[in-house]
Amino acid sequence: MRAVIMDAPGQITVGEREDPRIIEPTDAVIRLTATCICGSDLWPYRGVEPADHTPMGHEYVGLVEEVGASVTTVKPGDFVVGSFVISCGVCEICRSGYPSKCIHAEFVAGIGTQAEKARIPHADGTLVATPGMPDDGLIPSLLAASDVLGTGWFAADAAQVGPGKTVAVVGDGAVGLMGVLAAQQMGAERIIAMSRHADRQALAREYGATDIVTERGAEGAARIKELTGGLGAHSVIEAVGTEESMLQAIHATRGGGHIGFVGVAHEGVQLPLDQLFFAEVHLHGGPAPVRRYLPELIQKIWDREIDPGKVFDLTLPLDQAAEGYAAMHERRAIKVMLTL
Ligand SMILES: [Zn+2]
Ligand SMILES: [Zn+2]
Repeated sequence: MRAVIMDAPGQITVGEREDPRIIEPTDAVIRLTATCICGSDLWPYRGVEPADHTPMGHEYVGLVEEVGASVTTVKPGDFVVGSFVISCGVCEICRSGYPSKCIHAEFVAGIGTQAEKARIPHADGTLVATPGMPDDGLIPSLLAASDVLGTGWFAADAAQVGPGKTVAVVGDGAVGLMGVLAAQQMGAERIIAMSRHADRQALAREYGATDIVTERGAEGAARIKELTGGLGAHSVIEAVGTEESMLQAIHATRGGGHIGFVGVAHEGVQLPLDQLFFAEVHLHGGPAPVRRYLPELIQKIWDREIDPGKVFDLTLPLDQAAEGYAAMHERRAIKVMLTL
């Protein structure tokens, strides 16, 4: 099968990989309809993480081709959306609502879904079938549910977004924009998007942002305080993953407020404990338990209540993946969908 391979940082090729097959009775093999490039794929692209002939991709939708003997919830021919983390669905951690910390958790990035096919372990606990065969127009939104929508949703949930709340969103990448959409859906009264890019500001407004703040860091946090009578936001979504963005989130939150942090932090990123201590805020974050939200999110997309697929502003065939990576790296695109 054809698959995207990162030969070395900055070097993307579409080459051949062996076709996946069923190994465990809990596996499914899916034929991908669409996949995409994630902001986190840019870390190895930029050389921040290693890349050596690495298969790429962790977001996916497609058709089930084959299932193992013990798979019961999906069958060949089903259209499925899966989480970017494999989960069994039955262990104590999965049942408590944290499938991304499943005792069998495995990052789909290690499988590589920027490819024609993928083997998905623990299919019952990872995949969700759609109510029927989706129209082409729904594919981008269903694909967004696989990671960025589910991640933005978790961030808003973790930040305890709800009616009457003021929400600030740090980060205007796809996840930050999905955080805006989630906050709007959860009934936030005011949603402040922090962004310097006109195209992203426009999409944030479309998704429900009521205010835009262009300042960053300490200035950005000060601006949020100014806009909230000196108190800070009730709920802050952090979708970047650096020390600066996390401190911006902490200082933009009111005492007793909540932060949902989903920006992927890298080794060496540290927080000054004194600032954290005196901020007196709730922190909850990590790799989003996307699988928990998938049934609800798929239904909202199916009913056309939400249109998260607009976050894909460039669509290319899988064979042109290298151009997709370059476009995201150079910020010419927010998020790139690859079609098969
Ligand atoms: Zn992703
Ligand atoms: Zn589990």
